[in-house]
Amino acid sequence: MSATRVLVLNSGSSSLKYQLLDMRDGSRLASGLVERIGERSSRLKHTPPATGGRIREQSEPIADHDAALKAVAEELARDGLGLDSPELAAVGHRVVHGGKHFTRPTVIDDAVLAEIERLIPVAPLHNPANLTGIRTATALRPDVPQVAVFDTAFHTTMPEAAARYAIDVETADAHRVRRYGFHGTSHAYVSRATAKLLGRTPEEVNVIVLHLGNGASASAVEKGRCVDTSMGLTPLEGLVMGTRSGDADPAVIFHLARVGGMSIDEIDALLNKRSGLVGLCGDNDMREIRRRIDEGDERAQLAFDIYIHRLKKYIGAYYAVLGRVDAVAFTAGVGENAAPVRAAAVAGLESLGLAVDDALNAVRADEARLISPAGSRVAVAVVPTDEELEIATQTYALVKNTN
Ligand code: AMP
Repeated sequence: MSATRVLVLNSGSSSLKYQLLDMRDGSRLASGLVERIGERSSRLKHTPPATGGRIREQSEPIADHDAALKAVAEELARDGLGLDSPELAAVGHRVVHGGKHFTRPTVIDDAVLAEIERLIPVAPLHNPANLTGIRTATALRPDVPQVAVFDTAFHTTMPEAAARYAIDVETADAHRVRRYGFHGTSHAYVSRATAKLLGRTPEEVNVIVLHLGNGASASAVEKGRCVDTSMGLTPLEGLVMGTRSGDADPAVIFHLARVGGMSIDEIDALLNKRSGLVGLCGDNDMREIRRRIDEGDERAQLAFDIYIHRLKKYIGAYYAVLGRVDAVAFTAGVGENAAPVRAAAVAGLESLGLAVDDALNAVRADEARLISPAGSRVAVAVVPTDEELEIATQTYALVKNTN
């Protein structure tokens, strides 16, 4: 087959992230980000092929996703990578919510579009933006396959015992209330990369993956299949995040409504946007929190302690879910960069076979690496995630024999 390029699109409500990859070797040809789409001044940051290394910025308004993708296409054309090229094999779209229905990457047709649309009530912020991106890209290149890669797909292997909430079954089913999980492409990629780092196949190992970015989630992966994950119906459940509370007694919501006089929308905004690290100490960037801790700031210290306490509880819970753990893998912005978080998360867990070597933990590198002492019963690893490469790989695997 001649066409080997895959364009990966990640459409947010007012943003469009993209990467163009060459699937002969997975190399990144170009990448970028359009921000503030539909606002007074938009911004397009385009990083051309590595050899050039220049970044273009523009601040004229970009009205909608259609205009954004056209601007991206212009930038790519300037680098000789135009989207009209016959070398474009497919467009891979990150779609946040695939519900129970989509268990694997799927070539998009009208029926798939309709199903993604039907899921809007459970993903009101994300799925509409993803649909806009799909429609825009289809209009630009109707002849190449558009593929949806779902954040939820990796988690569809969860057993009912992990996926169901203990609430009235009829009510739950009527409204599709269950635990779906998110960050699936990252958990899939990192669990496989961790097995590779150990010199084993994914089917041979059990891994706890800790995806700690601004959003954060943990997953228990047994022999390559996800058996539990910390995010639920929405990405609000689970770990303490940059701005999201993670787990809280559901009665907090009734209390804030009845006693605090807050509306449902206000509580939604509180738990999603003004909670987590930012709610606890005013900052959601772990670098800033560590800097404040070094200066003796008590609120920053408390925020860090709450973050670590929750993380440790999930490590223990997933240890119990898996029974045997071969590796714990840290990934995403915090997991890949914040050595103090990694050290604190496993501190005191020696009896579970978990420890980090301080010297190895302090090393900064872009490669997957072990940070546990030699001979540890459980490997502790830092494994940089690459969601775009995973989306492109899944997309290309689906289309490469069809064109
Ligand atoms: P992500 O969502 O994966 O892009 O992660 C973003 C988060 O990673 C930021 O909000 C920071 O809290 C964290 N982060 C990024 N770089 C560093 C660093 N060098 N040290 C500590 N935390 C970092």
